[in-house]
Amino acid sequence: MAELLTNVLCSNCKAAGLELETESSAMCRYCGTVNQIKGVICPHCEAINPLGAETCEACHQSLIRRCQNCNTPNWAGAELCIRCQAPLDTISALGARYRTDTAGRLRAQRHDAASIKAKEAVDSERRMAEFNAIEQRRQQHLNQATETRNGQQRLWIAVLIVLGFVVIAAVVIGLALVATH
Ligand SMILES: [Zn+2]
Ligand SMILES: [Zn+2]
Ligand SMILES: [Zn+2]
Repeated sequence: MAELLTNVLCSNCKAAGLELETESSAMCRYCGTVNQIKGVICPHCEAINPLGAETCEACHQSLIRRCQNCNTPNWAGAELCIRCQAPLDTISALGARYRTDTAGRLRAQRHDAASIKAKEAVDSERRMAEFNAIEQRRQQHLNQATETRNGQQRLWIAVLIVLGFVVIAAVVIGLALVATH
């Protein structure tokens, strides 16, 4: 079974959504890179056929169209003859292009949906990071408040101990004075 162009990822941005350009090249609709494809792409079903194939392995339509002017075999998706530049069968070429565009639009929509999801993931990660930063600052404030309170308590204990000594000293001195009289 021939591989489909739909499943080929862009060599540059790795997106699926290559737009058929010529028999062996397809342009990425997201980054514009022209990807070279090994083989002949069927303009009817976008299957990738081996080089030199004349009939599509997948849909069995002809990959070749002869110029009515000079009889040169052209790729079935070409619009102008490679030799004499005469327009080839434009109606079927337009038909092939229309099918490509419809399939392409569907792929583009899927790609957009995927990139929106990716953006949402980034946004929610950023919100998490912001939340974590706020939480961290809150914890720091709490710790500072606790330290300040502990410091104040230590100060009060020191003051009470000093006062206790002063009272004891006063009592001792008072007793000593009473005893000497
Ligand atoms: Zn790309
Ligand atoms: Zn085909
Ligand atoms: Zn021609």
